[in-house]
Amino acid sequence: MSVRVLPDFLINQIAAGEVVENPASVVKELVENALDAGADQIVIDVVDGGRTLISVVDNGRGMVRDDLAKSILRHATSKLPDDDLTNITYMGFRGEALPSIASVADMTIDTYNSADEHGWQLNATTGQIKPSDWDSGTRIRVENLFARTPARLKFLRGDRAELMSVLDIVKRLAMGRRDVGFVLNNKWRFPKQQDLLERMAAVMGDDIIGRMLEVNAKSESGDLSLYGFISEPTLRRASSVDQFLFVNGRPVKDKVVVGALRAAYMDVMHAREFPLCALFLGLDPRHVDVNVSPAKTEVHFLEPSHVRAFIIKHLRAKLAETMNMSDGQTGIHTDTFHQMNIPASVSNNFDFAKKSSVMSVNSPNRNTKDFYAKPSGQQVSDFSINEIVVDKNNVATVDDAFCDMPLGRAIGQIGDKYILASGGDNLIIVDQHAAHERITYERIRTHAIKVQPLLTPIVIDMREEDVTAVMTVVDELKVSGLVLDAFGDNAIAIFEKPADWDLNWAELLHSIADEVRENGHSVQLNEKLHLKLANWACHHSVRAGQKLDLNQMNALLRDIENTTRGGQCNHGRPVYKIIPISELDVMFERS
Ligand code: ADP
Ligand code: MG
Repeated sequence: MSVRVLPDFLINQIAAGEVVENPASVVKELVENALDAGADQIVIDVVDGGRTLISVVDNGRGMVRDDLAKSILRHATSKLPDDDLTNITYMGFRGEALPSIASVADMTIDTYNSADEHGWQLNATTGQIKPSDWDSGTRIRVENLFARTPARLKFLRGDRAELMSVLDIVKRLAMGRRDVGFVLNNKWRFPKQQDLLERMAAVMGDDIIGRMLEVNAKSESGDLSLYGFISEPTLRRASSVDQFLFVNGRPVKDKVVVGALRAAYMDVMHAREFPLCALFLGLDPRHVDVNVSPAKTEVHFLEPSHVRAFIIKHLRAKLAETMNMSDGQTGIHTDTFHQMNIPASVSNNFDFAKKSSVMSVNSPNRNTKDFYAKPSGQQVSDFSINEIVVDKNNVATVDDAFCDMPLGRAIGQIGDKYILASGGDNLIIVDQHAAHERITYERIRTHAIKVQPLLTPIVIDMREEDVTAVMTVVDELKVSGLVLDAFGDNAIAIFEKPADWDLNWAELLHSIADEVRENGHSVQLNEKLHLKLANWACHHSVRAGQKLDLNQMNALLRDIENTTRGGQCNHGRPVYKIIPISELDVMFERS
């Protein structure tokens, strides 16, 4: 095959692969263009999650006919006037967005620039330009996204999920430009000329009010500046959805900045909790390369460790200040939270109560024993050491046979904690509590979750984006025994829940929403389920310190052998150790 230069439509589709990933990336490119055109009011509409229509209308300076024609050519841009890639001050600069979008969708541009007598309309598919009565700014309509590239279409998620990503992008852009007004689907409004705190409340939710700390710092040499707000340690989310980071005004998710933020909170926040922030890092554009990825969320710093140290130093200083003031009432949470390894926002943050009207009040400390019912109707709480004792009459006869079993035959107990057994040529030492815990856990895990329909649904008020987020995982939640549905735009109603399991559902759903908005899925409920099972198993297991007779010991050994992952307890500690006789020989200097 001979070498050939690819035709333009293919080159554009390839570029689109990088630039146009989903409706949110289209919105990002179009809104950035509107900002670059000097708009201070941007109206975005997205139909069917962006599949059918994405429309962005701005009141910027528009384009004259000639520029309109060139705008959809590859690498055509008005934004690198001095051809200097080291000094990029506009959001765009690659001249890639419009041709890329046009290659994977039907695009129409209406625009008016005051140098022309009237407006113009461009059909990007045919390349035709005709006069129009459009008389202010620009409107770009993108229809039938990916209709020509069915493989890409398949990767789009549900309409709700795509809309959520669009909202997230709009929020990021709106946070960066408080001077500009943004409206999405006539529903989410971020008015122009808000101050940073007002904007943060509009974007992140009212629960931040009064709980953000202002940061305003300059490096000694004056080469770096940092401005914005970070959350008190007690205010946190289950994902990084509400972390807004900017480098020279450009929204980034850069690992240097994100890492510095995490490091600053290291002592006051669990690794799986996320502070909220809107932080603006400023530095000489020549000291940062924004030309890294087409989506431009990563940047390269000339001196990353300098930047990192600067951010950590000032954030830590701010956090330390508040700790002194609040007399120990900071977000440093108890050991329990660390042990339980769940975001404290789930268990420790009472603020959600304020924004939630929970019609049925849950009592968190109710007895949870009969949460998992055996299919026979027998309750799991019946599990006890008695149940795993095999019939005593059988034991004597099978005792010798035990020698051939992997964990052997019980010989005795040490310290009422460890079971000693002999099996083949091995000495086996079993941690009796860890062993029983493992067995109990596996048993209850295999029982179906009993679901309890609620006479009065629990209604939880949430912001629309959180409702939307939770609704995208509604089927997964159902599998875990939580049946819910949207209740209007701003609430969720829970109709069925796992029986006898009372959690603060408002907190749980908010954490699920945080996670979904960031990662597209949530592990919150499953993790809680796991924790619950593990704790239950722990409390209903043979304790260290309990005397066992040989029959009970043998029964326990047999049960471990039959248990999935019997070698580790639910907290990851070993259940047993096998010491081969050869090791004993070494100990006794027999080899
Ligand atoms: P880039 O933004 O990197 O220059 P684009 O493909 O996004 O590349 O846009 C190409 C050109 O089209 C821009 O440089 C700009 O001159 C013009 N343009 C795009 N959108 C608008 C708009 N909303 N208002 C005015 N001009 C625009
Ligand atoms: Mg652009």
